[in-house]
Amino acid sequence: MTTLERIIQICKQRGFIFNSAEIYGGLKGFYDFGHLGVLLKNNIKNLWLKDVVFSGENIFLVESALIGPRKIYEASGHLENFYDLLVECKNCHNRFRADHLLKGEYGEVKIKDNRALCPLCEGELTEQRTFNLMFKTNVGPVEELSSEAYLRPETAQGIFYNFKNVLTTMRAKLPFGIAQIGKSFRNEITPRNFIFRMREFEQMELEFFTYPEEANKWFDYWAEKRFNFYLKLGFKDKNIRQRVYSKEELAHYSSATIDIEYNFPWGFDELEGIANRTDYDLKSHNKFSESELFYFDEKRKEKIIPYVIEPSVGIERLLLAVLLEFYDEDKIEGETRKIFRFPPSLAPFKVAVFPLLNNRPELVSKARKVYSLVKKNFQAFYDENGSIGRRYRRQDEIGTPFCLTIDFQTLEDETITIRNRDTTKQERIKITNINSRIRKLINKFR
Ligand code: ATP
Repeated sequence: MTTLERIIQICKQRGFIFNSAEIYGGLKGFYDFGHLGVLLKNNIKNLWLKDVVFSGENIFLVESALIGPRKIYEASGHLENFYDLLVECKNCHNRFRADHLLKGEYGEVKIKDNRALCPLCEGELTEQRTFNLMFKTNVGPVEELSSEAYLRPETAQGIFYNFKNVLTTMRAKLPFGIAQIGKSFRNEITPRNFIFRMREFEQMELEFFTYPEEANKWFDYWAEKRFNFYLKLGFKDKNIRQRVYSKEELAHYSSATIDIEYNFPWGFDELEGIANRTDYDLKSHNKFSESELFYFDEKRKEKIIPYVIEPSVGIERLLLAVLLEFYDEDKIEGETRKIFRFPPSLAPFKVAVFPLLNNRPELVSKARKVYSLVKKNFQAFYDENGSIGRRYRRQDEIGTPFCLTIDFQTLEDETITIRNRDTTKQERIKITNINSRIRKLINKFR
């Protein structure tokens, strides 16, 4: 079993991630998240908010609608440009992204009479054709062009069309940012690699508006800041790198792009993109909506269409990188131990609480008291089932950094043991000090 297969198995068995609608056969590219998955995603969002939104001074949040009228995507260029090139096998009818096929991502491609053959069955492939990645729907009871609407393929457009609303209500001054966390939808031709490429996913995006002449400076600033975010999170140097786009690779709206790539099991691949979107989006919305999205500079006494620097990352893609980065196996008492070495800031549960035995009411009631003490301050889990060794192992497997055990000595001297996930070492601490002790241990991790 590969590490990725092992992680997928743990995610399902332990309640991080499920295939969506599995009882109906599932739907490719869609996933559901269990309690631990939701907690982990929330922790990722909070760390991003802290790094991107709350550490700066001039960055504001919005939450825009997921479905938007056709006009937005005419203006943004998505209707015209947001497509992949697709080829289909005439024999097995599997579809492939032409660029991925050429890069060898589906395995070796044989060539016959100058034409590529299907990598799965060696059947004949169709000519490549364009395939727009947006999900289309209609709003209201009548299906006509004016009711045509789209599920957003990125959160960014909801930021651009709200530019003026945020600018005036927050009385923002350049440079300033508008950030959004939320769902995006792309009808990917081949969703794959677990949650790396999905059809419904969440993005965390910042649009940072600057004076045009300062855009390059802010591009460098955000590229560096976002790279450091992953180092601070505990990613190993060797597992992340930056890749600068060549001119031919740039999206229609971008004058410069850098990807932060993670060393996924299939090689380095995009985790986050940082793009200089220039003034493309605001200008384009001005043209299509006949509104006036601009910034009035008091000092210069002139209207400015700001440039935009955009760091954008998918939460699930980052979640997959986190799972891969912190998964580990070691040997304890001759047994292989599966363990997520999450930093406490990411761990779904910070502590677990166990009575040593579940058939001794005095231990159980004491353990419940300790649980209610800690859960006010930390995400905590109570477990009284199975041997203590198995309970420790279960918490290791979901990355809980600390386990508290209530034993017979507790009843005598009000102390409990606290076990460290990574070292498996235990020490005794007083119940009265418990919350401050956990807080200290968590801070020491950083
Ligand atoms: P790719 O080249 O992998 O298709 P992209 O360059 O089209 O991605 P962007 O439009 O730059 O991606 O989106 C910004 C971020 O959103 C990506 O860096 C990635 O983290 C995330 N993302 C994009 N598409 C998906 C997807 N289908 N599933 C999960 N996350 C995604």
